Amino acid sequence: MRLTILGSAAAEAVPALWCECDVCATALKRGGKDIRRRSCYLIDDDTMVDFGPDAFWQTMQFNINLPALQRLIFTHPHIDHLNPVELGWRRRGYSKVTKPLTVIGPPTVFLTIMAQVANAGTACDLADLQLRRVDVSHGREITDGDMTILPIAAHHAPGKSPLIYVLRRGGKSLLIANDTGWLTDESWEVLRGQSLDAAVIECTSSLIFPDQRNYHMGANTTVAFRDQLRDIGCLKPDAIVVTNHFSHNGNSLHQDLEAFFTPKGIAVAYDGMVITF
Ligand SMILES: [Zn+2]
Ligand SMILES: [Zn+2]
Ligand SMILES: [Zn+2]
Repeated sequence: MRLTILGSAAAEAVPALWCECDVCATALKRGGKDIRRRSCYLIDDDTMVDFGPDAFWQTMQFNINLPALQRLIFTHPHIDHLNPVELGWRRRGYSKVTKPLTVIGPPTVFLTIMAQVANAGTACDLADLQLRRVDVSHGREITDGDMTILPIAAHHAPGKSPLIYVLRRGGKSLLIANDTGWLTDESWEVLRGQSLDAAVIECTSSLIFPDQRNYHMGANTTVAFRDQLRDIGCLKPDAIVVTNHFSHNGNSLHQDLEAFFTPKGIAVAYDGMVITF
């Protein structure tokens, strides 16, 4: 499996568009790994997880061939993870689209897509966008092509049915855990017995609220999350652990994050980071 981190920021991006804080000013000055698009992932060349407001720029920067995409998996419908406007361009008359794209997510994702499409004022449904809808829910594993997808309830966004995912293909296994706070016992139970080669764990509140556990996580909680995965036997001994989804509000400059996480054996994501396992 090859995972490319296409974006590593929380909702406002870094630097946040309108922000006058010191983190944003420093990020702008330093550039490089401190410039963060909204969180989004490419797996091999055929699967994306989330598709947010930076999708156009991400496909250009990282040479993604969107027509070759087999599936789009959504964690939840927050606007930094789902930008339905860009799916609307699949409509006849706007783009030449010759094959359907499988969209996998909780029902709230499809409600959000349809609301946006309706808002655009044109009679249109998922079939007009050539989207094949696959609803998923907590604990119910599905297979799509050669990929096995296990959705697990996140602790985030009440009422939006947010999910984290274990994705398996070719004997390899990856956890993508954003957005979430500390999981419920029920979710940890579903994870128990997984054998992960790699895990991406969010760290929205980063260094400013390191012990945050509700709805998002801070740096200490991210480390504890990794330790819990290890304690319940989920992580292979050589598993790669990466942290991602940083907010400028969390004091999240790249070198400060690395100073915290590198000694703990966790890699700090940046836009364009590729891990192969
Ligand atoms: Zn988010
Ligand atoms: Zn800022
Ligand atoms: Zn969210």
